[in-house]
Amino acid sequence: AKSEADTPICQFDEEMDRRSRDKTQLVHDLRLALQNNEFELVYQLQNTLETLAPVGFEVLLRWNHPTRGRVSPDEFIPVAEETGLVRDIGAWVLREACREAAQWDHPYSIAVNVAPQQLVQPSFVEDVMDNLFETGLDPQRLELEITEASIIDDQAHTLKVMHKLKELSIRIAMDDFGTGYSSLSMLQTFPFDKIKIDRSFVQDVHKDAQRAAIVRSTLLLGAALDIPVLAEGVEVEDELSFLRAESCTSVQGFYFGQPMTRDDMRRIACNAAVD
Ligand code: C2E
Ligand code: CA
Ligand code: CA
Ligand code: CA
Repeated sequence: AKSEADTPICQFDEEMDRRSRDKTQLVHDLRLALQNNEFELVYQLQNTLETLAPVGFEVLLRWNHPTRGRVSPDEFIPVAEETGLVRDIGAWVLREACREAAQWDHPYSIAVNVAPQQLVQPSFVEDVMDNLFETGLDPQRLELEITEASIIDDQAHTLKVMHKLKELSIRIAMDDFGTGYSSLSMLQTFPFDKIKIDRSFVQDVHKDAQRAAIVRSTLLLGAALDIPVLAEGVEVEDELSFLRAESCTSVQGFYFGQPMTRDDMRRIACNAAVD
């Protein structure tokens, strides 16, 4: 317990100290997480806006920590990126996702998040090809979600990698669109097959004039460039109605469901439910 004698500056030091210890522990635990089988994939539906029929799933990573329980990717992905662990973790995600999707009865697409460090690995395209070959997944069903951060580092290299992926018929989505600073020129230079409007613009879009303007312009831009647009983070009917009126292509969000466990997902993707 803290006494009155603790000065604010002291508390600050203690807080910093505690945080750095937590961080060291997190890095340590993260290193063991792969070999201890602590990662799990969950699947979130993506629906076409026209009929609301499912068209695919985005794969999202979960870490079931032995003592802390579920740790959010927003907490551990940045640490995985700092330590380079994201390369091994990302490779695992991609392999598991391809293996899973290859077994479905319905040819839904599978969208996988790819961290910048993964994409710049010299073996990345080859690794993807190996995965497709080993699992038998139709490359047309695989969609890789990348962010601006992937492009900024080495534009020429990223462009080359993207073209190679496209030659394999793999689709590439621009994730978190609108949150960076040079998205517009990137859409012109890089061959994106989809734009994902970030959740921060979709939330309350029917009530917030500025967000509405941003979402509307993005949808117009997508239409002009002939790139389908998915809105993420749709939670309520009013947001959905707005997006429908503005001719958005597809949607994803809690309105359609939280990310699902593998078994729940298979009830949709497979004919006979698996338990
Ligand atoms: P993201 O790629 O933008 O993924 C969408 C996030 O929004 C997910 O959070 C999802 O659960 C959440 N979400 C979806 N619909 C709604 C909604 O209607 N309302 C709200 N409030 N949230 C919604 P999650 O799973 O916690 O992942 C957070 C971020 O962690 C992801 O953002 C992505 O950047 C990263 N991430 C997750 N899995 C992976 C992975 O396998 N590899 C890499 N590199 N990053 C990952
Ligand atoms: Ca994503
Ligand atoms: Ca996103
Ligand atoms: Ca996001």
